[in-house]
Order: sequence, then structure tokens, then C-alpha cells
Amino acid sequence: MIPLGSCTMKLNATSEMLPVTWPEFSRLHPFAPQEQAKGYQELFRQLETWLAEITGFSSVSLQPNAGSQGEYAGLMVIRAYHRSRGDLHRDVCLIPVSAHGTNPASAAMVGMTVVVVACDQQGNVNLADLEAKATQHRDRLSALMLTYPSTHGVFEADVRRICQIVHTHGGQVYMDGANMNAQVGLCRPGDIGADVCHLNLHKTFCIPHGGGGPGMGPIGVAHHLTPFLPGHPVTRLGGKDSIGPVSAAPYGSPSIVTISWVYIALMGRDGLTKATQVAILNANYMAKRLEKYYPILYRGTSGFVAHEFILDLRQFKETAGVEAMDVAKRLMDYGFHAPTVSFPVAGTLMIEPTESESRAELDRFCETMILIHAEIQAIIEGRQPRTNNLLKNAPHTAQVVTASEWTRPYSREEAAFPAPWVRDHKFWPSVSRIDEAYGDRHLICTCPPIESYS
Ligand SMILES: *Cc1c(COP(=O)(O)O)cnc(C)c1O
Repeated sequence: MIPLGSCTMKLNATSEMLPVTWPEFSRLHPFAPQEQAKGYQELFRQLETWLAEITGFSSVSLQPNAGSQGEYAGLMVIRAYHRSRGDLHRDVCLIPVSAHGTNPASAAMVGMTVVVVACDQQGNVNLADLEAKATQHRDRLSALMLTYPSTHGVFEADVRRICQIVHTHGGQVYMDGANMNAQVGLCRPGDIGADVCHLNLHKTFCIPHGGGGPGMGPIGVAHHLTPFLPGHPVTRLGGKDSIGPVSAAPYGSPSIVTISWVYIALMGRDGLTKATQVAILNANYMAKRLEKYYPILYRGTSGFVAHEFILDLRQFKETAGVEAMDVAKRLMDYGFHAPTVSFPVAGTLMIEPTESESRAELDRFCETMILIHAEIQAIIEGRQPRTNNLLKNAPHTAQVVTASEWTRPYSREEAAFPAPWVRDHKFWPSVSRIDEAYGDRHLICTCPPIESYS
């Protein structure tokens, strides 16, 4: 399991992946004459129709290549809408503190001024603060960017009211749809009150992605925004008052769209809805199993989480000198990829299982976290030293474990085979810790001197 927040890899069935390899899809140039790309056109129209139905919007643009590019496209559409009504001065974008970093970055890229809205103790948008900021900026209000369910893993009960407040003050609601895996088939951004929403096809709709790509971030828009959808100078598409292109190719990365098409076609309406239900069930099952060991940082008013949840590890820094990063590294010894570390809250782990994992795998992950809790407990109770222990030294490589000399205050077995299932499938980390993020933050120029080329 790779439980990486909304970026968790969902199951990618072979049947979903095969069409990417077919030359009819993979070898067609994006600017091939339209009459040679009729199959693609049909695929685009069907996918647009399905995504419009799933989001409750009237039209969809497949052009953006990523969620972040969808944000850019969506905000440009909102800007064009305001301008078409003579509202040239609407440039304030409200963004809750819980937002993904791409939200303020996109707002800045379209020239908007970001105004941050506070969240309350439960992780929800603070309504009073939203109301105050919307009122204060009513003459300049352009949009609110809202993630639903929130990046805190909670369905905000006041989401309709939030949209209403923004509309009352002349703004548009941009819904960040990265968490759509908790909505598909159950509720729709368009019905909730959003005006635009992007979908991450590489999250919710199964396109495998790693290290930043490849992606597809189509946007859906309500009827009044349709005229402004992205266009393209080579291929005729988009609305009549189009914002122009946001990507080089008219339909973004079309060959991988086949993956999402097959996923939706094979799952069907009932299958997609069931997937959402199971994703939410799985997250709640894990949260329930783990709550006795780690605080669950945020929950909805019903006591449930959405499709992901945040484990709070911050108290262990004080009591055991253990941080979220130590737990993330120790998970490797147990054969797991770490969950999202320190986002959206520093010192925590964000876990999203999705619907794709078996009950056995969910249990293995929970049991691992419970065993790690016992390892932390041993430090708290003084049975293990604070700076030289299973967590601080994790992950343990084969080289370390098989070295002739062993001076650590725990056994080699505890280091590398801490649970029975690791005997069946052992993943050996190839390196241990060096300096964590130090190297990423302290860039060193290694450009050779020009003489070395002579
Ligand atoms: C992933 C994500 C994004 C950005 O999407 P990309 O496709 O990675 O550009 C934006 N918002 C949220 C909440 C996300 O999880």
C-alpha cells in the first residue's frame, strides 16, 4: 500500500492500461487532421459527458495537463467571466489555510491577490472569518478556492453556506476536486454550489502517476462559464469567448485519457459509487482501529472522517523524541511506503487507503502502526534510549543488519523482521538516512568549470 493522501495509487487494471500501447492511440499526432482522429473525438465527447455528469456541470475542458493547470485554467475562466461583465477590478482570491499549495500559486499566476481564510479547531473553514473577509473585499472579490472534502479529510457540513457567502458578495466558487474520490456517485460539486471544479484523472480516475506525472486535470464549469473554456489556435474547440490555450496540445495528454475512459466504462454508475463508498469505509475502518494509539486530528460533526485522515504524532516529539519522519522511515522496515508526511499539518501523517486495498492489507498497515506505537512506548518508558533506537535508526538496510559487528540496543531481528508478514515479503531499503531534506534545501552547484570541456 502506498497511502499517499489524495495521490494514493488506485488499482490500475491491465485492461485499463492496454489501449495506451495501441498505435491508434499512442502514435497519433495531436495536430493530425480531425478526420483522421474521429475515434479520439468520440472518446473525448464521451469522457466529457461522463465527467460533466459526475461533477454536475454543463461542460468540461480536457485540456489542462494537471490539477494545478486546471486551477490556472479555472481561475482564468472566472477572471474572463468577471471581465465580460465589466468587473475588471475583481482580483481577490480567498483561500482557506488548509489549502494545497498549488491553490495560492495558481491564484498568483493569474494575477490575483490571495487573502487567507482561517479554519476552526475541527479543521473546517471558519465561517465568521470567511464572512468578514468576503464582506471586507466585496468590491474586489473574484473567487474562493475550496477543497471538498477538505485536505483535513473532513466533509465540511457548511459547504453550501460557504458557497452562498461567496456568491452573495459577487465571487465565484472554485472547487479543488482532488478529493473527488470521496464524492463520485454520492454528491456533485455543481449541486453543492461550485462554479468550476478540476478533476485529477491521475488521482480519482486511475491514471498511474509517480514523481509528478503524467497527469490530466480537466475542468468542469457551470453554464454561465462555458463560453470562456480553453480554446486552441490550431484545433477549433472551447467557448466563443475562450481564454485561449493553457496547454500545447488541444486535449492535453490524450493517450492517457484512455485509462480513465476504460475505468469509467468498466465501473459504470454503480461501480463508481461503490468505489467511493468503500474508499470512505476503508478510511473510517483504519481511523477506528488506530484511534486508540494515535489521535485522529480532525473528524466531521458525525465523528467520521471522509476518504482520508490525519494521525497526530506531535506529542511523541516531547515524550520520546520521535517525529513523523522517524515513523515514516520505520514503516519502510515493515515493507510500507510512507503516507503523506507533514501535510497539511506539520508533524502528522495523512493516510488514504482508497477502495483498492484488501481488508488484509488495511489490517497489516494498522498492525504495523500499532507495533510502531509499542516501539515508541518503549522509548517513553526508558527501555530504549531516545537517540539510538529502532525509529531513529530506521530504515535498516541489509548491509547494516548483516554487518559482523552489532552494537545496537535492539536485535537484528527487531530491526529487519519486526512482524511475521515481513518474512514472506521483505522489502530491503537500499540506503538508510543521510540528511533527510537537507540536500533538497541546500542546493550545491556542481557545474564543472568551462575548461573541463576543452
Ligand atoms: C494533488 C492536488 C493538487 C494538484 O494537482 P496536480 O495534478 O498534482 O497538479 C491540488 N490540490 C489538491 C488538494 C491536491 O491533492
